[in-house]
Parts: sequence; C-alpha cells; structure tokens
Amino acid sequence: MEPTEADVIVVGAGPTGLMLACELHLAGVRTLVLERQRQLRDTPKAGGLSGQILELLHYRGLVDRFEAASTAQAPALRLPFGGVHVDFTQLAVPPMRLLLLPQPMLESLLADIAGELGAEIRRGSEVVGLSQDDGTVTADVRGSDAEYRVTAQYLVGCDGASSRVRDLADFPFPGITYPEVQRLAQVTVPESVTMLENGDIDVAGVGRIPFGFTRTEHGEFAVGSTDPALLGLFTSEDETADYDDDEPMTLAELGESIRRVLGVDLPFGEPVRLTRFTFHARHVEQYRDGRIFLAGDAAHLFPAPGVALNAGMIDSVNLAWKLSAAIGGWAPTGLLDTYHDERHLAGERTLLHTRAQVALRRGHDPAAEALRELFLELLSDEQPLRRIGALIAGTDVRYPLPNPNHHALTGTFAPNLTLRTDRGSASVAELMHHARPVFLDLADRSDLRLIARDWRHRIDIHSAETDRRPADALLIRPDAHIAWAATVDEPAESAVLSLREALVGWFGPPPTTS
Ligand SMILES: Cc1cc2nc3c(=O)[nH]c(=O)nc-3n(C[C@H](O)[C@H](O)[C@H](O)COP(=O)(O)OP(=O)(O)OC[C@H]3O[C@@H](n4cnc5c(N)ncnc54)[C@H](O)[C@@H]3O)c2cc1C
Repeated sequence: MEPTEADVIVVGAGPTGLMLACELHLAGVRTLVLERQRQLRDTPKAGGLSGQILELLHYRGLVDRFEAASTAQAPALRLPFGGVHVDFTQLAVPPMRLLLLPQPMLESLLADIAGELGAEIRRGSEVVGLSQDDGTVTADVRGSDAEYRVTAQYLVGCDGASSRVRDLADFPFPGITYPEVQRLAQVTVPESVTMLENGDIDVAGVGRIPFGFTRTEHGEFAVGSTDPALLGLFTSEDETADYDDDEPMTLAELGESIRRVLGVDLPFGEPVRLTRFTFHARHVEQYRDGRIFLAGDAAHLFPAPGVALNAGMIDSVNLAWKLSAAIGGWAPTGLLDTYHDERHLAGERTLLHTRAQVALRRGHDPAAEALRELFLELLSDEQPLRRIGALIAGTDVRYPLPNPNHHALTGTFAPNLTLRTDRGSASVAELMHHARPVFLDLADRSDLRLIARDWRHRIDIHSAETDRRPADALLIRPDAHIAWAATVDEPAESAVLSLREALVGWFGPPPTTS
C-alpha cells in the first residue's frame, strides 16, 4: 500500500465513522474507512435521530434525504427521562424533533452519501495494530484475504464501545457499568389487547395496565406507543450479565423479563423491533493522542438512551474541518486540540444529564419517589422545561471560544436566520451546504468585509439583511458554530481588530501573505 493512499484513516463504518467520512470529503480530504464487518449491519440499535444533528443535516442540505428514508417524523412531545416522562406539550416550540430511521437504514444512507462524495469504505478490514511517528500513523489491517498496512496523516477511531483503537493507543476509559439491563420492544397489537385513548392498555385475562412506568420490587415496566398499530413495551431490571450489543434480543427473552418484573404473561403480536440496552457512564480523558483521535462511542458511553448518535455524529462534524485544515497546511497552532476541548465539554454535559437520569430511575424507595415527583413538579414551569429540552437535544452546549467582545452567540450553533440578499431570500442553513467557513455581514459593514476579503480563498463572504439582527456580522465555522460575532453597532476599531484576530486564530494567516 502506498503511504499516500489516504489523508485520514477512519476506523469503523458506524454512524460516527460514516458521518466523519462525509464531512472529510466535503472538505476535500481523501478518506479511507476500514470496517471489520463484511456487510452493512442489520442489528436494530438506535431507532432514529434527534437533537442538534438534525439541524446540522439540514445545514448540509441533506435532511430531505434522511426524511425520505425515515419511517416517521414527529416533534418530541413526551420523552422518557430517567424513569419519568417529560411533557413538552406546554412549549409553543418543542425543543427537538424525532426522525424515526432505524440504525441499519441510517448507516446504509450515510454509506451511500459518503460513497457519492468519494470516500472509500473498505469492508472486511479489521484494524489490529497501530503505530504513529511525527508525520504519519500506520494501521495493521486484517483484510478478507490477507493482512496489510495502510499509512495516513491522521487516524480516527470510530470503532464503537469496545474500541480497538482506544485500547491499542492506550487511551484510559474511566467510568462505571451499571448493573442494569433494559429491554425495549415494538410489537403489533394482539387481539387480546385494547389500546385505550389515554395510553393505558387493557389485556384480556390480566386487566388494565397504565401508560408510562409501573414500578415493582423487581424492576420497571412501561407501556407506550408512538404508532396506534404498534405496542411499545419496556422493562428494566438489575442484572450484571454482560450482553453483546450485536446479539439480538428475542421475544421469549422479553416475555420472561416482563414475567419477572410485572408477574404476568403478556400476549404479543409480531415483533417489529426488539432491543436490549446495558448502561455505562464512561468518558475518555483525552480525545487526541498525537495523530490518533477518538469519536463517538469509542470516546463516550452514556447511561441513558436517545443521545449517543447525536453526540457521536457531532464529534465528527467538529473534527472533520480541523483535520482538513491540518492536512491543507493552514491549521493555526492548537486548532486540532480544540476538538478535545469542545467535544469533551459536550460529552460532559451529556454525561451530566444521563447520570442524573440514572439517579432518577434507579431508586425504588419513598425518597426516590419524592425526587421524581419534585423533578416533574419543577418541569411544570416553562423555563426548566426548556433547559431540560436543550440538554437532551445537545443544543445548550457553548464551546469555550475566545470572545473578546463578549457576544452571547460566540461558541454557539449558528441560528438559522432568514436572510434577504441581492439575489433573493436565503438562510444561514443554505450558506453552510458546502461546509466552508462563512463570513456573514448583516449590517453593510464594508470595514469588516474588507478585512474578511483577505481570507476569501478560505472562507465564503456574504452580505444580507435579517429581521431582529443579532449581530453586525458573524464568522461561522464549517461545523456551523459561531467563531466570532460583532455586537450591533460595534465601533469599527474594536470590531476590525477582533475580527482579524478571530480569522487568524481559526483560519491561519491570510492565504496571500502566508
Ligand atoms: C439497543 C440499542 C439501542 C440504541 N438506541 C439508541 C437511540 O435510540 N438513539 C441513540 O442516539 N443511540 C442509541 N443507541 C446507541 C447507538 O447505537 C450508538 O451510540 C452508535 O451505534 C454509536 O455509533 P459509532 O459509530 O460511534 O459506533 P458503532 O455503531 O459501534 O460502530 C463502530 C463500527 O466500528 C467497527 N469496528 C469495531 N472495531 C473495529 C476494528 N478493529 N477495525 C475495523 N472496524 C471496527 C464495528 O464493526 C462498527 O461497524 C442504541 C444502542 C443500542 C445497543
């Protein structure tokens, strides 16, 4: 294999690795994805996408394809959160939406997009060894027919919870595994079950079982449904068994669990989805060691469902443009380290609320009941409800970026402003399709545009008007986060100075003088 076969090796073609391959190729980086499985997996893991990644896919002009592939889409009106259901119906705008897209379909779609962009996905190729020096990283690969080596400038371990890259490169992965197993199923509704309007079910020979969580001394049971034709069933039990996530759950296993928890035999229709979760709270201390990076489940495991895909795919979006800058030779000092700074912080926010969910769901005594009741009472107010929604969606993360003019938007995900331009109406989302940095002048600030022009080969420059202008101008990174913002009517001198600093800080010296 030629050392220059790829700029970046991505280990693992799960959602994180495939998203990384898409973003790297959008940024013009030659990427080789090595995947040990010979074929696309059909393991029913995540049921769909939610949170900020859906916004990001919209900003890339891809969300229509994901919606077309999905089985359903809905605003998140009620979400499970640590053994209670958070009810967002009182908010005028729900904090996020859900796109039902089973993980095998998600991976298939991401693989299609990565392939169209030019990424090579080499299946049946397991990374078994790693080494790095000052200029390259080399992977030893067990291929379908033979072992071989491949060398690149950088390597990213997107190889999941049991990451081989993490072990080979000696990244500590501290945390704990909870002695808890949850089982989740969607089955068609059998004749002997009647679904009532309030969400309860009436089971012939058993009686009425209420919607939501029922706690017994043996664990928790829940019933609910997002589709009137399907029955959603859930159990949670204390168990220390070590299950393999790729080993599917059976209907018999679910039936036995319900019998242990609820003490009854429930009838089932046809299984549509059967999954089993175990829970870990683990986080690597560093996302980078030299030329080797970790992303997705390889870097973090959260002890609650529904958030891991969002976190992993956004890791990829954050890292891709920084690797592209390093490979292009214009990355300012320290740029690659901001991947750890920003995404570790985001991972800690997700661990914060998922660990809190463990405390909320695992207690079975009156004190735990009181905690859940009080928690729900607090969430009857709009402000805490919004805050919990933003935490789950991952939209409350504000990266710790330099912010000399103390603008509230710096470090946040760029809002999708509606824009009026010379060429008609547009939006921030449309400007981000190509994953290039954007300088957006919102107040006809020719002084600022003049500065930005020096970086025109590296960044796109746009002028527009918008209602309720949040800033005179915005500098938006390719991952759609705001690197710099000028306050409204910011004096020329300070704005010019801080813009120049931000441009050098994020995108290096102006290309013409470098
Ligand atoms: C039952 C279940 C339900 C879930 N539901 C949700 C949900 O609703 N929402 C949500 O957000 N998350 C959910 N998750 C979590 C979600 O599935 C994971 O977070 C997600 O798969 C992580 O993606 P990843 O790409 O980081 O890792 P993975 O999906 O684990 O992908 C890693 C890839 O790397 C490959 N690989 C491993 N080692 C090597 C090697 N040495 N060489 C080459 N390739 C290698 C693997 O074969 C695999 O394809 C669920 C998980 C489970 C188990």
